[in-house]
Amino acid sequence: MSRIAYVNGRYVPLGEASVHIEDRGFQFADGVYEVCEVRGGYIVDGVRHLARLRRSLHELQMQEPMDERALDVVIRETVRRNRVHDGLVYIQVTRGVARRDFLFPGDDVAPTLVVIARTVDPAKAEAPAMDGVGVVTVEETRWARVDIKTTGLLPNVLAKETARAAKAKEAWFVDRDGNVTEGASSNAWIVTADGVLVTRPADFGILRGITRTTLFDVAREEGLRIEERPFTVAEAKAAHEAFLTSATTIVMPIVRIDGKPVGDGKPGPLARKLRQHFHTVAEKKPI
Ligand code: PMP
Repeated sequence: MSRIAYVNGRYVPLGEASVHIEDRGFQFADGVYEVCEVRGGYIVDGVRHLARLRRSLHELQMQEPMDERALDVVIRETVRRNRVHDGLVYIQVTRGVARRDFLFPGDDVAPTLVVIARTVDPAKAEAPAMDGVGVVTVEETRWARVDIKTTGLLPNVLAKETARAAKAKEAWFVDRDGNVTEGASSNAWIVTADGVLVTRPADFGILRGITRTTLFDVAREEGLRIEERPFTVAEAKAAHEAFLTSATTIVMPIVRIDGKPVGDGKPGPLARKLRQHFHTVAEKKPI
């Protein structure tokens, strides 16, 4: 079955889907995006993802491509047309097409909206969680507004390549104070000897992950305590457990940091428990 993309009002075969070469997303990375999990025929945490998309647009003074109810329909229609039961849906909005100029174009320039959906085999998604993954630490090289989910991801791309070269799945950015900010595409967590979950406060230094936010709800249900504070690489290496969160990996146990085992080198019990219970708490809407 051929895949279908939504591009500016039309559903088109993926191979024929295109945007203009003067799209500001292409020329300036002047765009924002979201990725939502699709699981068992439901879109997970769609309400929170759309709220964050609205915030990203607002922070960059970008127009909303359509009202939220219409966008919700387009997202679900794209998922349906691609027959995605388990996988993800990607939503990107850019400031639109205009002659190349740093200054914002006029209000008459409509934003570009692209939606793509793709199937991910649930067994393949689950496999890395059985053994856990490794992370490597890299210098924080990103701009000061990583709280906005922009398509300007070059430092993240380079960090991921560094991780791959070290046979790790994720890179953790480390700020000048030696504190972990977040992963290249995930939020970072550790578990202390007392079973407290620690994650960096969602200030301008990290993206406020939707999975991170929902994990606060999960932790409450499980009677677990969360401390929002920075933690160093040394503290993470000595932690009982470590894990990362994102919409596509949910809660992923970390078993190695810079090649050194975390805890006993196996996925930690709290990370596993949070992963198991995540979808009983997350908001779900049928496709
Ligand atoms: N931080 C960064 C830099 C990311 O790219 C992502 C993934 N979108 C996250 C955190 C996790 O966010 P979410 O839980 O919303 O997927």
